Amino acid sequence: MITIGSNCIGCTKCVRVCPFGALSMVDKKAVVNSACTLCGACVPECPVKCISMPAKATPAADNSAYRGVWAFMEVINGGIRPVGYELLSKGRELADTLGEELCAVVIGDNMTPFFAEISSYGADKIYSLNGPSYKEYNTDIFSHAMIELIKKHKPSTVLYPSTYVGRDLAPRVAAEIHVGLTADCTGLSVNAERNLVQTRPAFGGNIMADILTPNHRPQMATVRPNVMKKVVLRAGSNAVVVNEVIPLSANAGRVKILSKHIDDVHSLDKLDEAEVIISGGRGMKNSSGFALLKELSEGLGGAVGASRAAVDLGFMPKDRQVGQSGVTVRPKLYVACGISGAVQHIVGMEASDTIIAVNKDPQAPIFNVCKFGIVGDAHQILPRVIEEVKKNK
Ligand code: FAD
Ligand code: SF4
Ligand code: SF4
Repeated sequence: MITIGSNCIGCTKCVRVCPFGALSMVDKKAVVNSACTLCGACVPECPVKCISMPAKATPAADNSAYRGVWAFMEVINGGIRPVGYELLSKGRELADTLGEELCAVVIGDNMTPFFAEISSYGADKIYSLNGPSYKEYNTDIFSHAMIELIKKHKPSTVLYPSTYVGRDLAPRVAAEIHVGLTADCTGLSVNAERNLVQTRPAFGGNIMADILTPNHRPQMATVRPNVMKKVVLRAGSNAVVVNEVIPLSANAGRVKILSKHIDDVHSLDKLDEAEVIISGGRGMKNSSGFALLKELSEGLGGAVGASRAAVDLGFMPKDRQVGQSGVTVRPKLYVACGISGAVQHIVGMEASDTIIAVNKDPQAPIFNVCKFGIVGDAHQILPRVIEEVKKNK
């Protein structure tokens, strides 16, 4: 917590800038409470320089023993989840800047057929843990495996996908080896001190925060699917494969998968991997408007997405929300119906190959990002499009 000197003149400037409500006035003097995060925002505001930050408790760590950028390759239905290749592509950039190796970590059963593709995304090395115990994701088994691999090889950086699995695994590993973890990064780079700059939206998406973990290694981050671009660098299997064997931990049998229930919403039309997305906004007006979107998406073999306004109105569940505080998508075709094109929506879909917008307002900002725009009532236009799609199927 900060310290406030006795020369405080009670001007209240610090109270006004504290983003955490950690400062208040008592008897015309500023007092700080335990909500202080040491963000430092109040320090330069004080006209009499009476606010001081505590001396740094942690000495700068010797990070030189930690080398290598790792990407955890999530296995889903016996294959590699595409976000893994996005992590590798970003990881390649980071590894080149640091002058370190890029390594993929593959934990699964019989994953060798995927090694050539992993190599093509620039991996120098593949750490492979293979066997029936790794066929299905299991928190205890996978976190133990990652922890042991990290302790053995000491990477400087580990990237995980921001998926259900990545969000379960990465915090377990971080807590066990006492390192930091930044969730849902939208940008990653390396600064002059060789620290990983982990950029992510903060304060409900109103600012972008750059987060550093300078005193501990490895630096760990989860990255949302579709945020980083996949870049194939070479053909063939150039990566060195290191087959690892790690005895299962005593906890290995603690969690067992007894049965699986695949939710309709998460089944065929996974939003973050769909090649065609038909999205609707407030302009679709009601659930029957969304029924049209569903019909069109079924005709095109796609998934249905939504703006935040549509989600807030209950037309679609929250996990269908595209945008800054929802899912980031990169489909071949994105059709935005009755969506105005607020910047928070655009950042989640602007990387789509082709964007088509249907909006009755010719001034709607969505028309600035679309390739094809139709000005008109979506409720009248969509049935005609659906009819054409059915005819041409
Ligand atoms: P509106 O802005 O109300 O637009 C409705 C559109 O429908 C209008 O352009 C109108 O012309 C058109 N329309 C109306 N009737 C018809 C019709 N019959 N036919 C055709 N067009 C019609 N938003 C997101 O989408 N995703 C996010 O992740 C997200 N995160 C946010 C995070 C923060 C921190 C904040 C502050 C906001 C966030 N928002 C997000 C909200 C965002 O700012 C907008 O409010 C939201 O995207 C608007 O949704 P909309 O376009 O459906 O609704
Ligand atoms: Fe508030 Fe940050 Fe100052 Fe702490 S350091 S009192 S959180 S402004
Ligand atoms: Fe006191 Fe400085 Fe805060 Fe003003 S800015 S209330 S002088 S601590």
